[in-house]
Amino acid sequence: MDKAQQILKSVYGYDSFRPLQKEIIDYVVSGHDALVLMPTGGGKSVCYQIPALMLEGVAIVVSPLISLMKDQVDALQANGIAAEAMNSNNDEHVNRAIRERCQQGELKILYISPERLLGEIPWLQQYVHVSMFAIDEAHCVSQWGHDFRPEYTQLGTLKDSFPRIPILALTATADKTTKADIIEQLRLSEPRVFISSFDRPNLSLDVRKAYRKRDRIRTILEIIARHKNESGIIYCLSRKGTEEMAAELKQYGISAGLYHAGLSAQERTQVQDDFINDHIHVICATIAFGMGIDKSNIRYVIHNNLPKSIESFYQEIGRGGRDGLPTETILFYNLQDLITLRKFAEESGQRDINIEKLKRMQEYAESQVCRRRILLNYFGETSDCSCGNCDVCKNPPQHFDGTIIVQKALSAIKRADEQAGFTLVTDILKGSMSPAVVAKGLHTLKTFGAGRDITAGDWHAYLLQMLHRGYIEIAYNEDSHIKVTPLGEEVLFGRKQAELAVIVREDLRVTKRKRHEQLPDSSDQMQTADQQLFEKLRELRLTIAREIKKPAYIVLSDKSLQSLAMMKPTNLFLLGNCFGIGEHKKNQYGDRFVELICRHLGVERSPEPFEPIEDLPFPDAIDAPIENRNSKNVLSYMHQQKQLHANAYTPWSDEEDSTLRFLHRQGKTIKELALILQRNEGSISSRLRKMGII
Ligand SMILES: [Zn+2]
Repeated sequence: MDKAQQILKSVYGYDSFRPLQKEIIDYVVSGHDALVLMPTGGGKSVCYQIPALMLEGVAIVVSPLISLMKDQVDALQANGIAAEAMNSNNDEHVNRAIRERCQQGELKILYISPERLLGEIPWLQQYVHVSMFAIDEAHCVSQWGHDFRPEYTQLGTLKDSFPRIPILALTATADKTTKADIIEQLRLSEPRVFISSFDRPNLSLDVRKAYRKRDRIRTILEIIARHKNESGIIYCLSRKGTEEMAAELKQYGISAGLYHAGLSAQERTQVQDDFINDHIHVICATIAFGMGIDKSNIRYVIHNNLPKSIESFYQEIGRGGRDGLPTETILFYNLQDLITLRKFAEESGQRDINIEKLKRMQEYAESQVCRRRILLNYFGETSDCSCGNCDVCKNPPQHFDGTIIVQKALSAIKRADEQAGFTLVTDILKGSMSPAVVAKGLHTLKTFGAGRDITAGDWHAYLLQMLHRGYIEIAYNEDSHIKVTPLGEEVLFGRKQAELAVIVREDLRVTKRKRHEQLPDSSDQMQTADQQLFEKLRELRLTIAREIKKPAYIVLSDKSLQSLAMMKPTNLFLLGNCFGIGEHKKNQYGDRFVELICRHLGVERSPEPFEPIEDLPFPDAIDAPIENRNSKNVLSYMHQQKQLHANAYTPWSDEEDSTLRFLHRQGKTIKELALILQRNEGSISSRLRKMGII
């Protein structure tokens, strides 16, 4: 095992690197500059933290947000790494102490804000052995980027002051121009550019079109119920929208936190802290919420309204599922939002760009092909296969000849002299005597009530489709009245046929139980785990979090808890093999978790094995000469393994071999294979090696 791999296991408790991480680490450790483009949640921080631990001296990490620094430092300290943050929130004597520790070489990682760093350069040059620089959120250096910060531009001087020290620039968003600009501004020398895939396969993608408020609330309540005691964000377009949503949820006994720009800074910090520390689980927020939050276990992100661009949308859903576990995202899409956003775009300084961005967002919502493909193509990645984790893939749209439906709608629009908005058009089609209909005398039209057999919600959805297919357009400058396009006239006069997609509202009909089976939520992976034990583990995590006054996910991630619930380790050694539990966490909290698990199982704590698992080549170890181990220990170890893995030490059958080969080809991890085949992970790896598969 090489050093980086060792650190990954012993410090972070992970078995394997995520794509590109290892290449980046090796490159930086060998003393080169690099630019890393990785999506939020792609595992950026490991790329500079591991080199920081491998290289001699202190790594300086530039980060623009104090809250983000705090979170990162907390997480590092929880893994036993000497890290600190130097910023304006600290008292001067705290900063002095930090300086002292840097000079003594006690710290491995120092987080610092860009403006602070510039002032500290002479001190760093004179007294500190700097190992590397990591510039996080590096797009802030570019005026082309969406988040330009003037103090970042001066970071170019770093190269003059420290010509030999490697600089690693990292960002989650950068188009071509921004990328080139980062390299130029930071004066990176012959940097290698690492671009990781922007795909986040653990985020499910789902769009619900033309939902009435009642159905929307019902859907949201279902999601919240499915994720009891788990965190989620509901994004709304306006401050008023967040307040209404929170009030609505309150009626159903759900107390959601509120977050928007109208609150004081203090109130905002409080809500954010409550959310991070799991005092509140649901947040109703405007897009102001989320910058600087590194909470790894957000299990769903709902967009109550259409976002203004795919960039914002992807950034917002990207806040979910950073731990890599299944996470739901749902976007509600309706005509009113489209009209409101179009108005914002018209009034914005950059009309054409913003209208174009909104159009792309609309295309995403109306997509008839895999939605992930649309997103990845938008970010310049070509993807030609279907993801299987979006609503289009799961429920491919069915089409039918909708000529008559389209003609009815077009005729109603024409007969109202193209002076009606979509609500009024729906009223005419439905034959509803609304005040607006009566006031304008529209109930005398020939088409009045011609579409009575279709629900108002479905008419809304058909009108959205007609808009997207170019049969109608909205005159945004004329009270958003609907107009018939030349293409629409072709259909109206029977010269062209119109295809429509069948409207699926399955989720409103199926029972909750069935839904649960269909959706890949986090509890699916818990099938084999013990839900009761999981809840107990979660409680213990919360207790510890409160004791040490840190967020629960800093103690252990959700994925680690799941791993514990599945593996049920009954001693520290086995606990150390669970996901995300490094040496430090094992020593800090291991005993308490092991005791809880033993209590839950009603068993005694198993003895710790004499030697680490890697030294016991399974399953052949049995016949091998045993050195430095007495037989009693090995027997008790075997017994313990037998208890944990029913098939441990039984010979492999041909059938089992072919199952193993099949499941491995399907991409199952060693851990999953061990679970399914009820064998120890070591035994699985050794069998795979024997079969020449790995
Ligand atoms: Zn898909």
